[in-house]
Amino acid sequence: MIKDNLEVIRQGIVDSCNKSGRDTKDVTLIAVSKFKPIEDLREAYEAGVRDFGENRVQELVEKYDLMPRDTRFHMIGHLQKNKVKYLIGKTVLIHSVDNLELAKTIQKESAKAGVVTDVLIEVNIAGEETKFGCTKDDAISLVKEISEFNNVRIRGLMTIAPYVENDEENRQHFVALRQLGIDIESQNIDNVSMEIFSMGMTCDYKVAVEEGATMVRVGTAIFGERNTNL
Ligand SMILES: *Cc1c(COP(=O)(O)O)cnc(C)c1O
Repeated sequence: MIKDNLEVIRQGIVDSCNKSGRDTKDVTLIAVSKFKPIEDLREAYEAGVRDFGENRVQELVEKYDLMPRDTRFHMIGHLQKNKVKYLIGKTVLIHSVDNLELAKTIQKESAKAGVVTDVLIEVNIAGEETKFGCTKDDAISLVKEISEFNNVRIRGLMTIAPYVENDEENRQHFVALRQLGIDIESQNIDNVSMEIFSMGMTCDYKVAVEEGATMVRVGTAIFGERNTNL
């Protein structure tokens, strides 16, 4: 079941890459396994998945301990400062940095652990009131401030687009995130790269890939519906 679902998503990514003249190698599928039991992650792992997305620190850390060492966990959910210390060293990428105070805490805990933590800046590109993420206008100044930190490295941008029935409606937001990345890149800020665009979910990952996503975060289409509203 999970294996078959993965085949469908992988083919969808291939199709979107072909359509837009992109290389499939440049797109990483992150299987969003939040609220799903460890058996489901193991099944996905058996089917070749190495990148998993979780949105709660405790759940990520628990699953980290139960999965093979080459599993890569991505923190994709809103992150509270007091939880950062549990996460450092157990995540390959924090997708959800949207304020300076959080980045300061990641800097402090990373320095303490002697590691450099890769992060993405989460941008509320559609300007939805209910969503986390910095505004498009604040992104550049936030990137500049965080670029000063030795133990935090900005690798790109992330956004959560609105939930839509028709994925075409979100194309504009993916284009806008990519353009913002290009604008930031053109400022040549030390210690900052814009190589990762984490955008696209079950409802719109194909359009996101067409518009330059290098990571798509897909949950429902792989693992089925979650029994929660979170
Ligand atoms: C849950 C979640 C996803 C996956 O959503 P689906 O619609 O189930 O594919 C992707 N990104 C983030 C940040 C999430 O919280």
